[in-house]
Amino acid sequence: MVEKEEQLGGLAHRLTATIEGANIGQYLQALIQKTSSHPNIQVMTQSLIVGFSGFKGNFTTEILVGPGMYSRKIEHGVVILATGAGEYRPQEFLYGENEHVMTQLEIADRLEKKGAADLEQVVMIQCVGSRNEENPNCSRICCQTAVKNALHIKKDNPQTEVFILYRDIRTYGLMEDYYAEARRLGVLFFRFKAEEPPRVESSANGVMVTFRDHVLNRDLAVEADLLGLSAGMVAEDTEELAAILKVARNAEGYYMEAHVKLRPVDMATDGIFVCGTAHSPK
Ligand code: SF4
Repeated sequence: MVEKEEQLGGLAHRLTATIEGANIGQYLQALIQKTSSHPNIQVMTQSLIVGFSGFKGNFTTEILVGPGMYSRKIEHGVVILATGAGEYRPQEFLYGENEHVMTQLEIADRLEKKGAADLEQVVMIQCVGSRNEENPNCSRICCQTAVKNALHIKKDNPQTEVFILYRDIRTYGLMEDYYAEARRLGVLFFRFKAEEPPRVESSANGVMVTFRDHVLNRDLAVEADLLGLSAGMVAEDTEELAAILKVARNAEGYYMEAHVKLRPVDMATDGIFVCGTAHSPK
């Protein structure tokens, strides 16, 4: 296993719990321990792939192995691309300018550490950095993440008002139950149009969010002490590796399978496979 970071796990290190309540950190640590101590698995961290040649069953990969960055060649039969994806870093809605604006991952972390006792009004904006011209994909995870954080807030502090501003709610499959639960607990959902996104301004105690309610057909304004942005997933660093391995990527930068129905985890080159979010948001 070749890992460019200091440790295995990637983005999962920033996740706290699943919507069902399972502890992701514990699971991840157990998995890392199991992988690292497996007699047939060698983990190379802080390492980079710099060369690749061969064919199915007979590949040679050249790796700079960290931290010393010495060169090593490995002969192997197949490749599995599992480079994952990252969280979109918002350029909009005052993210990075106002400390009251956070992504959903940051909110989950904040709730884990500080709870919601000090929160009076929380607004969440969906589809930030997804389903637009640059990134037409639905990130598939952010609706349930917003619902998960909203439930966390409501259970911690039922007095907190939570407003979720959405284009479509896509809580896939059985996740719909959590959406229904959020509604039952009083989370308020407002739909907005892509061409009429909410407007966000700094205010004395946080941020003022103004949006058009399509039922009332009028603007509503909420002063929030926390604004959560449901930042989508973005492909991570696939360009260089794709060039080295000579594999195709789609317009959003994800590795592209050989055939969407018949060979969904094979790359066009025999012996190279893709898994997880390196392929697309799951
Ligand atoms: S999962 Fe929800 S918030 Fe995320 S891109 Fe899809 S519709 Fe938008």
